[in-house]
Amino acid sequence: MHDFHLHSNYSDGTFLLQMVRAAESAGLGGIGVTDHCTISTRDRPQSMRATHGFNLDLTYERRRRGIERVREQTEIAVYDAVEMDYHPDDEAEIRSFLDEANFDYAIGSVHELAGRNVQVPSHFSDESDAGLDDLVEQYVESLVQLIESELFDVAAHLDLFERTSPLAGRATIDQYERIARAFDDSRTVPEINAGRALRDRAIVHPRPGLLEILLDHGVAFTIGSDSHAPAEVENRTPFLQEFVDEKGVTPVDPPGLERVE
Ligand SMILES: [Zn+2]
Ligand SMILES: [Zn+2]
Repeated sequence: MHDFHLHSNYSDGTFLLQMVRAAESAGLGGIGVTDHCTISTRDRPQSMRATHGFNLDLTYERRRRGIERVREQTEIAVYDAVEMDYHPDDEAEIRSFLDEANFDYAIGSVHELAGRNVQVPSHFSDESDAGLDDLVEQYVESLVQLIESELFDVAAHLDLFERTSPLAGRATIDQYERIARAFDDSRTVPEINAGRALRDRAIVHPRPGLLEILLDHGVAFTIGSDSHAPAEVENRTPFLQEFVDEKGVTPVDPPGLERVE
């Protein structure tokens, strides 16, 4: 199995070589290093970039040299990839950066909802029921645009809002169907994301209702642990292996990836 979604010290993860060593001991055949990258001319992402330092556009060449060194020290495949923030208004900037950087593949993520980080429950605690339903609809609309843009090989953690208690459990079958139809017509594939799989409120993205509809549509999935630390790679790898066996998911590579054996 390959793990196509994990982070290193080039964004908010642990040193690259330690992540590779963890992948070796977990028995993975390969990993894709997908550090966060925010490219936007809008104000809020600009300030996020400044505070979090998700500036892979400035450091990817240095990271690429690091990945080349690390490849000489391991038997497993190590891919040079990215997790880009997606917002419909940023498409032109994202496209030109991806053309320039020429990663092995790219993951796209909707992390922002109505100018807020979708993963922080307190950002949504003052909203009415109707307001929360509307926010979930906005999220789904951004995700559908991400899929239709075909900017990315992989769409990350499709129902990320399910982590966020005020927003969880509000998505409808009709929204799930729209997501599935968007994948029917796109080169982009979703991932099985284990980023919250081993917590108290255990969540694998996509949640069962959405997963079932996507499988009915014959949609393929990549596998991504979304690990930021070595112990996460070690714990999530066997979990993901079991999960895909149990659900009958046949994992695929990111569509644009050329594997090195
Ligand atoms: Zn993400
Ligand atoms: Zn991630």
